[in-house]
Amino acid sequence: MTTLAKKYTIQTWDHNPILRHISENIENITPELKQFAADLIKLMRRNKWVWLAAPQAGRNIRMIATTQWDQKKWKDDKFLGETIMINPIIKEASQEMIIWEEACISLPDCLWLVKRHKSIIVEYLDIKGNKQKKKLKDFNAVIIQHEIDHLDGILFTDKLIEKKKKK
Ligand SMILES: [Zn+2]
Repeated sequence: MTTLAKKYTIQTWDHNPILRHISENIENITPELKQFAADLIKLMRRNKWVWLAAPQAGRNIRMIATTQWDQKKWKDDKFLGETIMINPIIKEASQEMIIWEEACISLPDCLWLVKRHKSIIVEYLDIKGNKQKKKLKDFNAVIIQHEIDHLDGILFTDKLIEKKKKK
């Protein structure tokens, strides 16, 4: 096992109290939290996950590791980068909804259809504590909505519209 894998236990299943807890806002971005943020990114990158919220790694704090994609070509998403978002809030959300097929490492082997806002404006603090604002749509918007749900103790089993596949 890698050091990272020893340091963090990925929290799984919907009875898990950490996954069901409403996470705390981050007041101070301490060096320890910066290290945690770097670890979240590393864990996500190593496992080729598209998202990882702090509670999934065992901490009930409002931090998410996100990826962004260029989706001009269907099924040929181009990776644009990774972003840590602290205390993310959805400021605006489109009335238009989309249905997306979602997976979650906390719910292994589940691939379910979930309804989400097609576009959102998210505000957050970056790792330096600067306020940022991003307008995101489609998959990039789904990622943020899925992760903010994790900060609020919500799993997609709570809102799935169709169970597509369960091994
Ligand atoms: Zn998830």
